[in-house]
Amino acid sequence: MAKITKKEALKYHEEGRPGKIEVVPTKPYRTQRDLALAYTPGVADPCLDIEKNNSDAYRYTAKGNLVAVISNGTAVLGLGDIGPLAGKPVMEGKALLFKIFSDIDVFDIEVDATNVDKFVETVKAIAPTFGGINLEDIKAPECFEIEERLKRELDIPVMHDDQHGTAIISSAGLLNALEIGEKKIEDVKVVVNGAGAAAIACTKLYISLGVKPQNVVMCDSRGVINDKRTNLNEQKKQFITNRKINTLEEALVDADVFLGLSVGGILSKDMVRSMAKNPVVFALANPVSEISYEDAMDAREDIIVATGRSDKPNQINNVLGFPYIFRGALDVRATAINEEMKIASVYAIANLAKESVPESVHTAYNEANIVFGRHYIIPKALDPRLVSNVAVAVAKAAVDSGVAQSKIEDWDAYSEELKQ
Ligand code: NAP
Ligand code: MG
Repeated sequence: MAKITKKEALKYHEEGRPGKIEVVPTKPYRTQRDLALAYTPGVADPCLDIEKNNSDAYRYTAKGNLVAVISNGTAVLGLGDIGPLAGKPVMEGKALLFKIFSDIDVFDIEVDATNVDKFVETVKAIAPTFGGINLEDIKAPECFEIEERLKRELDIPVMHDDQHGTAIISSAGLLNALEIGEKKIEDVKVVVNGAGAAAIACTKLYISLGVKPQNVVMCDSRGVINDKRTNLNEQKKQFITNRKINTLEEALVDADVFLGLSVGGILSKDMVRSMAKNPVVFALANPVSEISYEDAMDAREDIIVATGRSDKPNQINNVLGFPYIFRGALDVRATAINEEMKIASVYAIANLAKESVPESVHTAYNEANIVFGRHYIIPKALDPRLVSNVAVAVAKAAVDSGVAQSKIEDWDAYSEELKQ
């Protein structure tokens, strides 16, 4: 993919109507009568019905297909704390992705509140508008408390995508990478570099999927999180290792998996060479990864590498998850996105990579032979099968785990409908 210049990026955002999204009416509005139905007096009837029965909001308003992408701009992409307004292009971009991949409408909401209480109160106050809430680009450790409280206090799905989206997609990649490397998840030694929003959520999900907690070593900017460390936050404390090691280099000797969610350029070829056979290296820092794809591939032949980059194989891209996870959750009016739904989406994404790839995907990527293996452990973002595979799995998991408020009578028909 050719490099995008600043000029091109700014022109894309500026030309025509500035920004990337608009609101489109979904009902007739040409005649006086249409307008009397759309607004007063006709609008009073749905209002009164909803007042009596709140769930009628799903019948008479856009709530059920509307997700809020909400940020305070404190951890925007790899750009850091640039504030809510400067983060707006990212949130609008996410709105665009939701719309094109799963036909979910999004209002992007940029909140000027870094304080946890103020942010939580603001989101709670506007929650009636929405069928779901995608928290975005909120810095750690505040993001953990914000998400926990909103999940507890709201009855619509809430997900911080930087945590759980990343965890889901990288877990799908991990399961497949281990299968290709012929390793059992219960046996693998995992080194996680980074202890922020994404790293903590990934590690927790890996453990839910079978990684043994005693086989995990986590490092932050000060080195290995071990029992000598002081002033650790509650999230980091869960991952204290009792191994007598202090550095990433020491941790990596004989490790099976490196998961990098930290900063660029901190993993050397020699460190990769010290890992066990068929090592899995997920170097996900953006825009510069912990080790470049080329250097990692060059370090050894038996390696399986994934990055966050769209111009390399095995991109761990959150867009494989969030549009479809919310699609499934909204379609059964789930009250939450719970562990069962996350794990269902992991397996749906992982399994899709093992199926033969349709021609449209080969064409979209201008690649002839995309087959399951070291260079293809995870589906491509433009795979049209994702929507039905992932949304159906998530919706079924919501029903089975008891958080769905509406039923899907015919799963095959639902799946077909999603493919439209
Ligand atoms: P975050 O919450 O700010 O966490 C960053 C973590 O990296 C912190 O724990 C920090 O340590 C640690 N760190 C900084 N320098 C380090 C070093 N030299 N060695 C070890 N750890 C170091 O950020 P995040 O949202 O989790 O994202 C982390 C990175 O992953 C970003 O580059 C982001 O773009 C990328 N990411 C990629 C994907 C993807 O590819 N799909 C998804 C999510 C995130 P302290 O705790 O000591 O400050
Ligand atoms: Mg994000």
